[in-house]
Amino acid sequence: MLTVLNPATEEPVAELEQAGVEEADAAVARARSAFPGWRAVSPSDRAHLLRRLAALVEEHREELAQIESRNVGKPISGARSEMGMVAQVFHFYAGAVDKHNGETIPVAGGIAATFREPLGVVGLIVPWNFPLNISSWKLGPALACGNTVVLKPAELTPLSALRLGELCLDAGFPEGVVNVLAGKGSVVGQRLIDHPDVGKIGFTGSTEVGRVVMQRSAATIKRVTLELGGKSANVVFADADLERAAASAPYAVFDNAGQDCCARSRILVEKTVYDRFLELLIEATRGVQVGDPASEETEMGPLISAAHKEKVASYVDGGRVAFRGDAPSSPGFWFPCTLVEATNDDRIAREEVFGPVAAVIPFADEADAIRIANDTPYGLSGSIWTRDGARFLRVARAIDAGVLSVNANTSVRVQTPFGGFKQSGFGRELGMHALDGYSEVKSVFISTEA
Ligand code: NAD
Repeated sequence: MLTVLNPATEEPVAELEQAGVEEADAAVARARSAFPGWRAVSPSDRAHLLRRLAALVEEHREELAQIESRNVGKPISGARSEMGMVAQVFHFYAGAVDKHNGETIPVAGGIAATFREPLGVVGLIVPWNFPLNISSWKLGPALACGNTVVLKPAELTPLSALRLGELCLDAGFPEGVVNVLAGKGSVVGQRLIDHPDVGKIGFTGSTEVGRVVMQRSAATIKRVTLELGGKSANVVFADADLERAAASAPYAVFDNAGQDCCARSRILVEKTVYDRFLELLIEATRGVQVGDPASEETEMGPLISAAHKEKVASYVDGGRVAFRGDAPSSPGFWFPCTLVEATNDDRIAREEVFGPVAAVIPFADEADAIRIANDTPYGLSGSIWTRDGARFLRVARAIDAGVLSVNANTSVRVQTPFGGFKQSGFGRELGMHALDGYSEVKSVFISTEA
């Protein structure tokens, strides 16, 4: 039995049976037998079902937000907007189903046409930080392309995905098209990776487990999309609107209690404005409302677990702490917003902390800023704050990361591709690009010889 906890209270919210290898095999078999029927469903009927699913998510938005808030410790207002995005994702892929077209290519002796074919059964493995949101980023394009799926949420946060599975049936998806299994990564996750009837793994999680996914997928030459960790830079130049940059920086690192792959957890500040910016940043961080996730005013909740809290604390111990905010005491896995002055060689700047902790690092000039921003094994996101238009383009082109923002700290939009460079992974989610990851290109030559 799996006991699911509320990280804000440490009280159980649910007890459930965990799936094992046998259930994983049965789910893959169900998805396998549903595949021929599902791939034959017309694009407009697939779109219709995705639209119904989007409507059901909207209808159940409050219920889903409450589930996510209690299971992950997310502030309820943030959980509501995440559920809004889940509905948007299904709407977007409903609209995309009949727009992911092939080509006709003139060649000697005839014409070649390309088709986008589904991969078959795909395994979707998601983390605990944005359980339903990230599930939708994979489910939407996978279903739009005509695949059947087995979705495995993280052990700590299975509840919203299980509810979504019910909504898929309510929407009218045929049995076996969407399967959701609560189980351990080392058991169900690995079985999906090893299973010869699974054509692809869409994985979001740590770089460490991403390596395992890639290695084990080699045995069956499985396709993989890997959305992994990050250690992104928020680069503030002296000519930026410092007040705006400082007001926005806390959101960029403390949202979701810093448990965000896109967290700009290295704040790089040009030396000439370092002291002034740090003052502004401390003021803005002091304003973050930490507390009961059920309260409408709360902006930051607890960390996901006791073990994770211990890990986050280990990055701060012995560091040059510039600011430590308030946080409730236990029960609950609380950790305060923390700013640490650091160099890019410190452990806190090199490893993904995945908590409400930012390293503030000075830089000398543009070249130094680019060097430090790129001096990391990761390459997921980042921000550039400057009023100089040529500079933001130069710096945006020079930073090795998949998702950047200029004079803003947001990374994720339904319409735009999302994914990493370097050890942040490969493949793209969201936008039309995600459809490429859930389909194969087939080329068919048609002779026109008489
Ligand atoms: P994790 O890697 O521990 O687990 C992710 C998923 O993989 C879970 O469902 C888990 O059960 C499963 N898993 C674990 N071991 C497995 C194995 N051996 N085989 C198959 N599956 C296995 O990550 P987490 O702690 O749940 O999430 C945090 C990590 O996710 C952070 O590193 C974060 O940066 C990353 N993340 C990345 C993105 C992105 O889009 N790039 C988004 C969110 C989170």
